[in-house]
Amino acid sequence: MKLSDFEAVIGLEVHVELKTATKIFCSCPTDFGAEPNTRCCPICMGLPGAMPTLNRRAVELAVMAGLALHGTVLPLCRTDRKQYFYPDLPKAYQISQAGVPICRNGYLTIATPDGDRDIGITRIHIEEDAAKLIHADGRTLVDYNRSGVPLIEIVSEPQLRSGKEAADYLRNLRSILVSCGITDGKMQEGSLRCDVNVSVRPLGSAKLGVRTEIKNLNSFAFTEKAIEYEVRRQCELICRGEAVRMETRRYDAASGKTVLMRTKERAEDYRFMTEPDLPPIFLSEEEIETLGNALPELPEARAARLSKTYGLPEGDARILCEDALLADYFESAADVCAYPRLAANLLLSELLRYCESEPFSSPVSARRLSVLAELMGEGTVNSSTAKKLLLRLCEGDFDPRETVEREGLAQILDTELLTRAIMETLAENPRAVADYKNGKTAAMRSLQGRVMARTAGRAEPVLTEHLLKQILEEYEVEPHV
Ligand SMILES: [Zn+2]
Repeated sequence: MKLSDFEAVIGLEVHVELKTATKIFCSCPTDFGAEPNTRCCPICMGLPGAMPTLNRRAVELAVMAGLALHGTVLPLCRTDRKQYFYPDLPKAYQISQAGVPICRNGYLTIATPDGDRDIGITRIHIEEDAAKLIHADGRTLVDYNRSGVPLIEIVSEPQLRSGKEAADYLRNLRSILVSCGITDGKMQEGSLRCDVNVSVRPLGSAKLGVRTEIKNLNSFAFTEKAIEYEVRRQCELICRGEAVRMETRRYDAASGKTVLMRTKERAEDYRFMTEPDLPPIFLSEEEIETLGNALPELPEARAARLSKTYGLPEGDARILCEDALLADYFESAADVCAYPRLAANLLLSELLRYCESEPFSSPVSARRLSVLAELMGEGTVNSSTAKKLLLRLCEGDFDPRETVEREGLAQILDTELLTRAIMETLAENPRAVADYKNGKTAAMRSLQGRVMARTAGRAEPVLTEHLLKQILEEYEVEPHV
């Protein structure tokens, strides 16, 4: 058997930090990067006798996540104690939801080469984050600032088939949750991280193979690479006649491999019990509806609208809507511009390189971008001049229309002027002309480039190419003595 005879079966458990001001069971702040152990109290440190109270905002954000992912929010759910002993968990249990989660049966759409596919979301539940362990100098230190930060865990159906699909799922998920204000989505700060379950089976088989779990992946690229490696590793084991063992692994970015953390013979026994210190969570129909109405336009719907309203290719619209701020920026440019598609092109192919991506901000105002698109669209400047102007706008603001006039940057459409520039260029480059005559079509590009240079990039490209071809046909190279 070879790699292509196998099918990978992948499911994701994504942990998302909710964007609340305070923790889930106490009023300690959730801000990131504070001095260790300065954002904690007896409740989030799990001291005996401390009583939790549920942060209602965390519940609301979890409901919004459920609705944004097309799930069913349950009118009544509970919290449970998941018991395990580890230094990052001072109470020796985590408050989570076992039996009845806050939401079930959602889905998320990903684009694949075979078209869009809906990936099922089994459940979304609320839980508290654990403390952070810092391993240094042979010692382990505990920072309780993160202990009790509200999380949701989003569990997908095992319907993903490759590392690429898993990364796309994660990207879309993040985009939806960030655009709804549910999380800040900062993966480098751990606001969104995932555990991946991977197994392989022979193509066409319905029986699931033995799966491994890769813990705590915190970037799209690592998720993709870890899965690709793990799928290959499992296929190779099976091809060699060895068995895949049920185990927990982690991704080592330096070597690009997954490495064994621990083997597990069977599922851990967490001895779940209903949390006695918290009442059940009730959600009325009205409350769920109000939260649903508070959701903004979701990225997918927005991409469809932008594509339709402004005539953008679907792929471009999707890239724009991955980040709500980027889409906002585009829309404010497009709304005052007769050439929105050109504005999108300039933005995606040029400007984006100079923008701060996290959170998105552009050094060029939307108004200026729209003027550049208009100058191009109405034929005043060619694309090469527009790109140069854009680059200059990144350095400092000015009025592009006025500058084009003052500096004489308008493109040359005058046939006579262009013909003269072409004739001069040909006279100076007999070698390239001879090459062209001898059938080297690449010489054409080089001559065109020289005409552009001669006109300081202002020649209208299509007309120039047309004239250049015409002139070359009749052009005689003077014999060299
Ligand atoms: Zn606290």
